[in-house]
Amino acid sequence: MIEQAPDRLLLTDGRLNGAKTTFASLNPATGAVVGHAPDAGPAEAEAAIAAARRAFDTTTWATDRDLRARCLDQLHRTLVEHREELRALTIAEVGAPHQLTAGAQLEEPIGVVRWYADLLPTYEFSRDLGVTEARGARHRRWVEKEAAGVVAAIIPYNYPTQIALAKITPALAAGCTVVLKGAPDTPLVTLALGELIAEHTDIPPGVVNVLSSSGAAVGELMTTHPDVDVVTFTGSTPTGRRIMAAASGTVKRVFLELGGKSAMVVLDDADFQAASMMAAFMSCSHAGQGCAICTRLLVPRAHHDEIVDLVAQGLAHIPVGDPADPAVYMGPLISERQRDKVDAMVRRAVADGAKLVCGGERMPGPGFYYRPTLLAGVDPDSEIAQEEVFGPVLSVIPYDDRPDDAGAVRIANNSAYGLSGAVFSASEERAVNVARRIRSGTFSINGGNYFAPDSPFGGYKQSGIGREYGVEGLEEFLETKTFGVVAQ
Ligand code: NAD
Repeated sequence: MIEQAPDRLLLTDGRLNGAKTTFASLNPATGAVVGHAPDAGPAEAEAAIAAARRAFDTTTWATDRDLRARCLDQLHRTLVEHREELRALTIAEVGAPHQLTAGAQLEEPIGVVRWYADLLPTYEFSRDLGVTEARGARHRRWVEKEAAGVVAAIIPYNYPTQIALAKITPALAAGCTVVLKGAPDTPLVTLALGELIAEHTDIPPGVVNVLSSSGAAVGELMTTHPDVDVVTFTGSTPTGRRIMAAASGTVKRVFLELGGKSAMVVLDDADFQAASMMAAFMSCSHAGQGCAICTRLLVPRAHHDEIVDLVAQGLAHIPVGDPADPAVYMGPLISERQRDKVDAMVRRAVADGAKLVCGGERMPGPGFYYRPTLLAGVDPDSEIAQEEVFGPVLSVIPYDDRPDDAGAVRIANNSAYGLSGAVFSASEERAVNVARRIRSGTFSINGGNYFAPDSPFGGYKQSGIGREYGVEGLEEFLETKTFGVVAQ
């Protein structure tokens, strides 16, 4: 358990250094200072981008696949060796429960590095297109995939290591160089990643640069800078819109993983108990601070009250408390600011006519805890059903049966977002038929898990552009060049 972490450093051109000023990072479970991060400004960002540009343009990184495979292998081993240090920092700074560090917060992302390290030697970077005839001659053609260039990677606070590794690992595998910026609320764990890279791997200077900054100026510079070729961003949809606009001036390739308002559909033949437990526990995973959580529970109107009771029973059994305690399932929200936002949205939902079944209040004591909250009878057009909350709040929305489950599908699709979804039914065929008609990038059927290093992850509509993880995740960082030569 970390009381006070050592102050961390930026990584620029292979060197660890500070900035003129620092800013504090808080432990969300206590409100105490965990440590301090350098507050990089435009000068540090310029230096990091210049280093990444130089490493891309003047070293063999982009073309030496063996070097990259060896470095990814080293990075994987380093992360495994320093796993406990990263776990303690993730618990202290992110407020992520110990249980979650065994999965998506830490151990699974380390597995993603292994997966890309293993993919690299087998991935086909070129493809033969055969011979074509044109203008009276024969032409042999082929396609080569090459690194897209300098990548600006900007990440949010909620799963900092998972999201950082989901970006930098395929970018490095592709042969790109990277400037990674951590989130203002969780800079230390991202800087720790940079320090491990600098001190324990042969990744050449300038290939990975890591920044922390308390404001938006560094991110704005990274998304407008002419020396950056690709922006990969995970965060809120409003910030994603700004980044897309900012990157348009230099026509950068933009990859966006944004917000979600995913629906879990319970069909009338489903196991209500199983679906309700899944909905309750999922809505409180990392205190609701997950983009792919199903925060809308769509239930047949005739079974609304029965399912609401089951979900409320599930929420009452969620162990909330100190994230360092391995028995705890739900920890705090990241900040008082986030807790105020969540509380205000719940209050407006009740004013809009939703029934508050449980929760709806801050928890007493230190830290930024909010009670697991259930809202029933929610209007599908209301703010709470349309906007992302990013807190432990589940909205139950009744739907009316229509032929072919069309009522549920219509409400599920009544969203600007399209990140994920879930469906429960006694009939897998009926469930898949519903899943196919809902516009989202991932889907869970009867509790099935789709999340793994080889599974593309990303959103439809305003949940984003592109896919992370899997082969698709690598190809986000590759350019395609087509060759033609007159055949003999
Ligand atoms: P945020 O949008 O407030 O910030 C994300 C990052 O963008 C931070 O590093 C921030 O400093 C930076 N930033 C802010 N303004 C910028 C600008 N103008 N230019 C460049 N960078 C800028 O998001 P957050 O509150 O940290 O994270 C929560 C959000 O992230 C939620 O909306 C959540 O759904 C989303 N998220 C999405 C996924 C996904 O895979 N789709 C995963 C995790 C989180």
